Amino acid sequence: MKRNLLLNPGPVTLSERVRQALIQPDLCHREPEFAELTLDIKQRLINVYPQAASDYEAILLTGSGTCAVEAMLSTLIPRQGKALVVANGVYGDRMANMISTHGKRLQIVAAEWQEPMNLLELEKHLQQDTAITHVVAVHHETTTGRLNDIAKLGQICRHYNVALLLDAVSTFGAEEIQFTDWNLEACAATANKCLHGVPGISFVLVRRSVFDSRPSAAGSLYLDLYRYYREQISGFSPFTQAVHVCYALQTALQELEEQGGWSLRRDRYRNLSQKICQGLQKLGIKTFLDEQVSSCVLRSFKLPDGYTYEQIHDALKQSGFIIYAGQGGLKNSIFRIANMGDIHLEDVDYLLTCFAQLLHQKQTITP
Ligand SMILES: *Cc1c(COP(=O)(O)O)cnc(C)c1O
Repeated sequence: MKRNLLLNPGPVTLSERVRQALIQPDLCHREPEFAELTLDIKQRLINVYPQAASDYEAILLTGSGTCAVEAMLSTLIPRQGKALVVANGVYGDRMANMISTHGKRLQIVAAEWQEPMNLLELEKHLQQDTAITHVVAVHHETTTGRLNDIAKLGQICRHYNVALLLDAVSTFGAEEIQFTDWNLEACAATANKCLHGVPGISFVLVRRSVFDSRPSAAGSLYLDLYRYYREQISGFSPFTQAVHVCYALQTALQELEEQGGWSLRRDRYRNLSQKICQGLQKLGIKTFLDEQVSSCVLRSFKLPDGYTYEQIHDALKQSGFIIYAGQGGLKNSIFRIANMGDIHLEDVDYLLTCFAQLLHQKQTITP
């Protein structure tokens, strides 16, 4: 089969083993075999990070990463509470949008998209506004590739005694997440980014004590995590789950374990990412953010002079690569390359060859 090399930030290029895992016996989600599968995935998910293993519960939802994020915000921010969203990109803005859609009180502390989170401004609000119960942040702002400093943010939240909810959709499985040190109440993620599964299942890891200490605040029946929590204790779910996608997620989690867990996946991603950056820099393409502030998952690059994103995208697509455009105000100035999924160093070599050809061709055409 022709391989599509997906360098967009999810869904990812599957390993052959994960693809084959989709083809297993049909299963009714009300039968014990499915409950067993669910319990196995839940256990593997909390085991990805040792800090999460004892105090957190993984809750599986059928939907994309956005579904898990919205379920987390809807269920956990109390109706009488108030959320402070720290935003420096599309995904922070989207969470603010969700919270206001759910009719909950909201304060946004926004920074420019090329900037780090504005923690000074955040502290000012926490000092002055005692109504704030939850801080909401994005671990890896996929808009730019910035890995936000959640250790620092977690310290501040602890100091002011507010809970922290994290969008970890594009980091879970490949970057460090310190559940207890960062004082996380919950984080949301998905099967089809750093875990290398198939799109269709997402999940929230919630500190278990939350379920006993306060009622659900969900303004939605389908997204109410308390319902799922109660039924998934025995492996069942209130609604039909994406059964085949669960098979694939189980296999993807096994692969992650066999490959040495999240920290070795981070090493592998870093290798790929450094090779991509160095290769493109040799061709005169500049990175948008410095390496020290970037994730291992995705980097953004300035569009080279004289090229539109579409020209580069279309030329690479002919060779099997899918790259990703900038969003919003960065649409015409950057492009993005992610290195999640079943991508290898040889694929990066080929990518760099294609880039070199593309840039060379243009130079020979324009006099
Ligand atoms: C991809 C992504 C999402 C949304 O995930 P979908 O699966 O497209 O719904 C949310 N947050 C971050 C940080 C992401 O990278």
